[in-house]
Amino acid sequence: MSQPPRAARQRTALAYEILADSHWASAGATRLDGALALPERRATRTSAGTPYNLSVYDLALDLDRALEDFTRRHGDGEGIPAGRTAVAAYAARLAELSDAARIDYAQLRLAHDLAGALTIGDAAHVLGKMECPACLSWSLVGTQTRAGQWAATCRVVRCAVAPGVPRVFPLSDVARHHITRRDVDAA
Ligand SMILES: [Zn+2]
Repeated sequence: MSQPPRAARQRTALAYEILADSHWASAGATRLDGALALPERRATRTSAGTPYNLSVYDLALDLDRALEDFTRRHGDGEGIPAGRTAVAAYAARLAELSDAARIDYAQLRLAHDLAGALTIGDAAHVLGKMECPACLSWSLVGTQTRAGQWAATCRVVRCAVAPGVPRVFPLSDVARHHITRRDVDAA
């Protein structure tokens, strides 16, 4: 079935938004936009066997959990505010307090943005602009682990861990590499 033109335009807009780094590049950004702001969306299933954890709603819950963990890592030990909007705002404030927190926050947001783009089937050209952390090629494609988690697989033959066994990275590793390289380039 073909998608309605409106949905197609929205998916394209999301991809360009992520490509432009507009909503996670600054530590103070608190908007939960992109895929996470549109819970009515459903995963675009292009293959069978997607066990769980692939709906946009699940992704939003994952982000909530990740932001809570982030506030535990970087908070001052006081209580985490109640409510997802308050937690997100608190995390964004903490992200401005140190370089370590800023980098951690940027990685967290990027990894979740990638998962969102992969979930709606719109991440090919985004991942294509990100380096493989091992061989530094623009060679990553979105794949899934057996547990249903999104990951990035390097297509470079010499990067494989064994003949016929490509190297697979959690999205957090790809995001960490990307943020670190970007910071080095900007220095
Ligand atoms: Zn590689």
